[in-house]
Amino acid sequence: MQQEYAEYGDQYIDGAWRPSRDSGTIPVLNPATEQVLATVPAGAAADVDAAVAAARRAARGWAATTREERLALLTRLRDGLADAQAEITSTVVAELGAPVGFAGAVHAGLPLTVTTSYLSLLAGYSFEERIGNSVVFAEPAGVVAAITPWNYPLHQIVAKVVPALAAGCPVVLKPAEDTPLVARLFARLVDEAGFPAGVFNLVTGTGAVAGAALAAHPEVDVVSFTGSTAVGRQVAEAAGRGLKRVALELGGKSANVVLPGADLARAVNVNVANVFANSGQTCSAWTRLLVHADQYEEALALAAKAAEKYVPGDPADPRTRIGPLVNARQLDRVRGYLEGALDQGARVVAGGPEPLAELPTGHYVRPTVLADVTPEMTVAQEEVFGPVLAVLPYRDEDHAVEIANGTAYGLAGGVWAANTDTAAAFARRLDTGQVDLNGGRFNPLAPFGGYKDSGLGRELGRHGLEEFLQYKSLQY
Ligand code: NAD
Repeated sequence: MQQEYAEYGDQYIDGAWRPSRDSGTIPVLNPATEQVLATVPAGAAADVDAAVAAARRAARGWAATTREERLALLTRLRDGLADAQAEITSTVVAELGAPVGFAGAVHAGLPLTVTTSYLSLLAGYSFEERIGNSVVFAEPAGVVAAITPWNYPLHQIVAKVVPALAAGCPVVLKPAEDTPLVARLFARLVDEAGFPAGVFNLVTGTGAVAGAALAAHPEVDVVSFTGSTAVGRQVAEAAGRGLKRVALELGGKSANVVLPGADLARAVNVNVANVFANSGQTCSAWTRLLVHADQYEEALALAAKAAEKYVPGDPADPRTRIGPLVNARQLDRVRGYLEGALDQGARVVAGGPEPLAELPTGHYVRPTVLADVTPEMTVAQEEVFGPVLAVLPYRDEDHAVEIANGTAYGLAGGVWAANTDTAAAFARRLDTGQVDLNGGRFNPLAPFGGYKDSGLGRELGRHGLEEFLQYKSLQY
């Protein structure tokens, strides 16, 4: 029986929670139980107008704050994120279906790491530089529209909002329809930190209405979007008409290339963990494993064995390593890709498209490893956004480079070799924004973003901060 749930009717605009100008609502569902968790307002263009107007009013005052004033507020926000780790974790488990261990470490932990990284970056950043007879000032780029997806819902909010605020820009955030609850929690933490009214605003709503209104709004100066490549194109078109600066973090089809001489078992195990994390709903996931033809069968056996450890289950159970997909649409989409791959000649070595009889409720899919995938197959070209690993053989290094670079995307990747120099030399040939060598760790200060159809601009670290700055030169 459906329990009671919260019905939120407000948006966070101009420093307070205010009734939405639209009476429409968006239900937020738990992907494991399919129960309604809450409803949030489906914000209208009028909500977006009010939020952007508040941000515009706040812009000059916020731009004029000192670094120390912004640092003090951002430190309070960081402390709020630290105190709210358990609440963030349970919220993301409930609305995204992420396993609780992963949710705590990544969905709650990473935003804290990123916020902390911006405190030290802001403290040491030089907003003024002398170049010959000029002094060049880095100034805030204006009112920022942040449009975010559901797959790393708080990380993607923080990766935009925190550097924008650090740069001196006010923000209007439109989070994804599936995960607005952690966005509301974030707005509460911003409010509790005591930022001036209008500096941060939250409008929940659909992409087609609230998102589109925000991306095209004449009073927005910068649009920072993370989501699908198809929507990214629309956002860039709207922003382009208004001559707004735009940053796009889009999809990926990243390759993990294992060169002869590498530790094959480790490379395959790390790849399987990488692609099944967050139920495969990771833009930078290594969804294509490329191994030398001589090692192909061995790699498949290792991948199938590693996949056995991922048994879908209740995300709230600490033993669960893989939860459901976010919604029914994604489940249909992933199963459709699996069926299409089999039709095109791929072979299942683990998982497959069949429903999980033991989990009749919830949007669960079998974590799947596919063999006999050729580079032109749909499953090797398009982003599946589910726990699906395609294993492809290559003949030699040139062939591996050709396959790795042979999609429209270029977001991330991995290279494994006998030593890091060999791996680095190979990585330099890849058309992609980030490559991990022999399992190199994620670095929250390194620029993150895509080549080709994976996007424009960079997030995180200094490069992420500079997306929100513009430059003024004074000549002496
Ligand atoms: P999506 O593109 O459907 O939605 C993303 C956001 O855009 C949501 O807030 C949505 O409401 C909004 N939106 C939808 N239509 C809009 C429109 N016409 N105008 C303005 N806004 C609109 O993507 P999704 O399904 O939420 O997320 C999955 C996609 O995001 C995947 O393709 C994934 O690879 C990508 N992604 C990329 C990165 C990255 O950093 N490169 C990170 C995470 C996700």
